[in-house]
Amino acid sequence: MGSEGASIQKELDPLGNAGRQFDEAASRLNLPAGLREVIKHPRRATIVSLPVQMDDGSFRVFTGYRVQHSIVRGPAKGGIRYHPDVTLEEVSALAAWMTWKCAVVNIPFGGGKGGVVCDPDKLSRGELERLTRRYAADLSDLFGPESDVPAPDVNTNAQIMAWIVDTYSMHERRTEYAVVTGKPLEVGGSAGRREATGRGLLFCVRGACAHLGIPLAGARVAVQGFGNVGSVSADLLARDGARIVAASDVTGAIEAPEGLDVPALIRWVEDHRGVLGFPGARPLSPPIVEHDCDILIPAALETQITRENADRIRAKIVAEGANGPTSPDADRILERRNVFVIPDILCNSGGVTVSYFEWVQNRMGYYWPEDEVNSRLERIMTQAFADVLAKSLEHRVNMRVAAFMVAIERVVKVIMLRGVYA
Ligand code: NAD
Repeated sequence: MGSEGASIQKELDPLGNAGRQFDEAASRLNLPAGLREVIKHPRRATIVSLPVQMDDGSFRVFTGYRVQHSIVRGPAKGGIRYHPDVTLEEVSALAAWMTWKCAVVNIPFGGGKGGVVCDPDKLSRGELERLTRRYAADLSDLFGPESDVPAPDVNTNAQIMAWIVDTYSMHERRTEYAVVTGKPLEVGGSAGRREATGRGLLFCVRGACAHLGIPLAGARVAVQGFGNVGSVSADLLARDGARIVAASDVTGAIEAPEGLDVPALIRWVEDHRGVLGFPGARPLSPPIVEHDCDILIPAALETQITRENADRIRAKIVAEGANGPTSPDADRILERRNVFVIPDILCNSGGVTVSYFEWVQNRMGYYWPEDEVNSRLERIMTQAFADVLAKSLEHRVNMRVAAFMVAIERVVKVIMLRGVYA
């Protein structure tokens, strides 16, 4: 690989990017010598081989990961991703982002993440269940309400969480709902959890619009990735009067300058497994992140905005629904071009915030109505946005650096109070 190829590869490396984001913020804080290394490295990374008997009687071995980045502020918290491209490095980056995310919204969790290398589209329901149960069983010593609490991420859902609850509960010989979040309502889930990440994004976008003096009513929005986060964000923003002018998913991209009918698009995607072909919309061939809009919501996978395309981003606000969609090189370009980026660890933290509410409700055995969940979420998100904006204005840094500074300070404060056990 030539040096240009190597540097592109580096830009697409989420673990390297998470480290660069951390370093940039940490270097602005006056941390005791060596402490930066203490909080940068994951506490524990586990790799498991998961044998599964397939429907045709054959056996296959899948690889699973669980990384606990930090448990300083509370149990490790973070989703489980099922994807053919999952790597230990990616999971490690996502685990670190969870530590900073939980600290930004000031909830009592550390950071973790899990992954299984698989293509769930090619597995039957039975195969998916057996794979999930084997993963949960092999990691049941790590998991627990007080130690490590997984949740859904890309290609995992409430059903998969229900299987994990059941597997863990069978091992513990008692039902334990608080071991995972993002569960179905009937299995200890929280009202409002499914919509929480998109709703948190809405509160951040409202904050950004108010700060920048951009009216949300009539603002043009493009959404990359029309899954849980993208579709709920689009729906809620449209209810606030925004116009969703483009949307995409793995099947392709569509545009409608007059605005998409979001509830109809959601029903279409349920029936047709993708946005493509939605009546009344035109197929969109240029990359959706470069679409002419006021607000861009990357809500698919990592490193979608890079130094290759950052100059062509036309949005005034980038609201990061996905984790790690913008590389550090792209961040610099966007900052120079005055694009206001609401960083992932703030913008998509509504999901983990309501996961925290779910865990609290499980432990109380008392469940809140949805309006109570939503108003508690609004209070936390509005405070977190205000904390990060204030830090950004005080130190004249962009919102990402400010969010990392807020988060690192909170983690460091706890480490200094608790001390390092020896
Ligand atoms: P999901 O599986 O429900 O949806 C992902 C969407 O992205 C799908 O529509 C898929 O078709 C689309 N997609 C995949 N590759 C694409 C590509 N190359 N171009 C365009 N679209 C593509 O997943 P989700 O839960 O919505 O998560 C999306 C992102 O948000 C991930 O980065 C995830 O880590 C992050 N996130 C999710 C939550 C949550 O509560 N679900 C919370 C925080 C962050």
